Amino acid sequence: MIATPHRSLSIIGAGLAGSLLAILLSRQGWRITLYERRGDPRIADYESGRSINLALAERGRNALRQAGVEDAVMAKAVMMRGRMVHPRQGAPQLQRYGRDDSEVIWSIHRKDLNTTLLQLAEDAGAQVHFHRRLHTVDFDAGYARFIDDRTDHPHDIRFDTLIGADGAGSALRAAMNRKHPLDERIEFLDHSYKELEIPPTDDGGFRIEANALHIWPRGNYMCIALPNDEGTFTVTLFLPNEGNPSFATTNSGAEAEALFARDFPDALALIPNLRRDWEEHPPGLLGTLHLRQWHLQGRAVLLGDAAHAMVPFHGQGMNCAFEDCVALARNLLEQDSLAQAFAAFEAERKPNAEAIQQMALENYLEMRDRVADPAFLLQRELEQQ
Ligand code: FAD
Repeated sequence: MIATPHRSLSIIGAGLAGSLLAILLSRQGWRITLYERRGDPRIADYESGRSINLALAERGRNALRQAGVEDAVMAKAVMMRGRMVHPRQGAPQLQRYGRDDSEVIWSIHRKDLNTTLLQLAEDAGAQVHFHRRLHTVDFDAGYARFIDDRTDHPHDIRFDTLIGADGAGSALRAAMNRKHPLDERIEFLDHSYKELEIPPTDDGGFRIEANALHIWPRGNYMCIALPNDEGTFTVTLFLPNEGNPSFATTNSGAEAEALFARDFPDALALIPNLRRDWEEHPPGLLGTLHLRQWHLQGRAVLLGDAAHAMVPFHGQGMNCAFEDCVALARNLLEQDSLAQAFAAFEAERKPNAEAIQQMALENYLEMRDRVADPAFLLQRELEQQ
């Protein structure tokens, strides 16, 4: 066991994994400092006020439970019993995830989740510095430089150990890679995504079934919608980058509206600001990150998307990142040195992350195509009997 009094760890990124890890490690007695590129989401405009949500599954809930924060997070979660599949013709059909409401997933608001976890991290004793974008790291001297993007001013700190929870484009990963090649490989998907919104009804209710993950499968592409507790749905369109239809052929809001009128007419009727949102939000890239190694002895370690970003089709990136936090905290308790703890953490979590990355790629085909296939539906029914 590593003696924690007066020992400090610096976490890069106060997103989902960084905040949860800060809670767990502060409670274990570490002096935790978080450095976050953006402003404080509790006071600043966050994601332009848009509601972006995530599917929380049992893996993630279990991690939140172990950190003692499950109730705070679940207070605003919306249950999703299954997939509500919207075929080209005919009525939508619910495909349950399990036999009953004990086997469900939950939709949670990214901003609510992040602010809840950040507050709990501060309550647990972690210090959070906003507007600190990691820029460069001198591992030999133990100095890291951060930039405040509002002023371009540099801030230098001395560190003992850095933990990278700074997401898919991790600056810490880039710095580690310069020190010791991590054999980074990113496989970009030839599909991207765009987020839109279904607003609530005039009296604040949901416009479509609230307790479901809605899918409009269309073979090579699809639309999905997840509920938010304020009555909105976050709609995500996944589309190829090239071909027809694709992001290359759907540039303007008018072209997007024509695509929806042809392929998702019932969804179009629910998205009044489709043209505006389409033109204001650039498409997001999707990819899978592969690394040979996640740590540099006891000096630095990566977790969450910084270590194993994945495509979102299994809804497991955050869930997997939360499991990483619990595993890293446990290994820091069980091992005798940081280097041993980081190596044991990597050995435990890397095979799991790689399996989930593969499942996430495979699930795109299932969601965009197979859920609408009668043979697939029959097989599911037989499995559930
Ligand atoms: P992030 O949440 O990306 O947090 C990284 C933090 O680091 C951010 O706060 C960022 O501002 C900060 N940062 C970045 N660079 C720096 C720097 N240089 N210096 C300081 N700070 C920095 N997962 C699910 O489990 N369920 C889902 O339903 C789901 N849906 C998704 C849908 C889409 C469209 C996408 C793209 C992803 C989805 N995911 C989902 C995946 C999920 O978003 C990620 O796995 C999760 O956010 C990873 O958490 P993280 O803390 O590792 O990274």
